[in-house]
Amino acid sequence: MKDNTKLGFGTLAIHAGQSPDPVSGAVMTPIYQTSTYAQASPGEHKGYEYSRTDNPTRTAYQGCVAALESAKYALAFSSGLATMDAIMHTLRPGDHVVCCDDVYGGTFRIFDKVFKPFGIQFTFADLSDLKSAGAAFTPKTKLLWLETPTNPMLKVLDIQALANLARSKNALSVVDNTFMSPYFQQPLKLGADIVIHSITKYMNGHSDVVGGVIATSNDEVYKELKFLQNSIGAVPGPFDCFLVMRGLKTLHVRMERHASNAMAIAKYLEKHPKIERVIYPGLESHPQHAVARKQMSGFGGMITFFIKGGLPEARSFLEKVRIFALAESLGGVESLIEHPAIMTHASVPAETRKTLGIHDNLVRISAGIEDVKDLLADLDQALQ
Ligand SMILES: *Cc1c(COP(=O)(O)O)cnc(C)c1O
Repeated sequence: MKDNTKLGFGTLAIHAGQSPDPVSGAVMTPIYQTSTYAQASPGEHKGYEYSRTDNPTRTAYQGCVAALESAKYALAFSSGLATMDAIMHTLRPGDHVVCCDDVYGGTFRIFDKVFKPFGIQFTFADLSDLKSAGAAFTPKTKLLWLETPTNPMLKVLDIQALANLARSKNALSVVDNTFMSPYFQQPLKLGADIVIHSITKYMNGHSDVVGGVIATSNDEVYKELKFLQNSIGAVPGPFDCFLVMRGLKTLHVRMERHASNAMAIAKYLEKHPKIERVIYPGLESHPQHAVARKQMSGFGGMITFFIKGGLPEARSFLEKVRIFALAESLGGVESLIEHPAIMTHASVPAETRKTLGIHDNLVRISAGIEDVKDLLADLDQALQ
């Protein structure tokens, strides 16, 4: 497909980057399970030399993601964290990064434990407050890193305002778009320079692949990251690329159901006497509901809530759910539930967790796409 610009999201999710196989006519892109490619004469090849550098299944997958993020380019990696590794390698000792305070646990860990010892400096700030965001920049700031909605507190950050702020300070802005997927949020259109995903979550959507992807329309950034993708070598295998492409074909349908199920669950929990507070960007009670409405076309499938009581109450509730699986991760077709303080955010120091509000009675739900009546009934019996 040449001109993507007029096609709808669902059409792109199914077709972009892909065309029937020229050899056989196979409608699905084959899994090119090969490490190397025959050349007609030394240096004379069909665009593929070695599969760390390029692989046709990966090329198709990258083309699809680029179209969905309204980007010129996409680059696939073997995990979401591997995208961060590549991006951080564009920096040099002494460079400074501003990052949202309430960031994915693994993001905090790779920044603080892997790249800080190499001399990259980080300031973690509350980016929902533009004043504190501005104050976090230094003359050495090269990158603004944000996740929105944040994890697990689901703070919504104003992408357009923050991307403008970064540009005014000569820094690039990176948005981790894992929680929304391009179906609900397109950061590049709001002025961000780079988008990353853990495709492990909504993009693949079936909890059977770990992977990551970067999308950008900046030629310079692309060139550098393409070099690093090949030089560091954390690339996905062809089978994983195939699986993600298959997952992407239903992204638009899945996201609609994730969001409608999440909204129903959030409303149910908000009225429940055993629940202290519910955080979901689609609720009018959400502190940044207006920003959410402005920059998102739907509110996603993630809900965070506080159970009345403490750890014993949270634990007993989490032991009783039957359809919800008590598991880390999110974004799959099946509903998951977890305890951030003990599970996903254990790598965040206890003091920091406390400041961020990740208390022992905090529970996070990833609403799947099952029948919502069954999900509500499951929560109901577990809360009794
Ligand atoms: C899971 C996740 C990551 C890390 O991705 P992996 O695929 O697990 O390496 C990064 N950001 C967010 C928001 C995530 O949920």
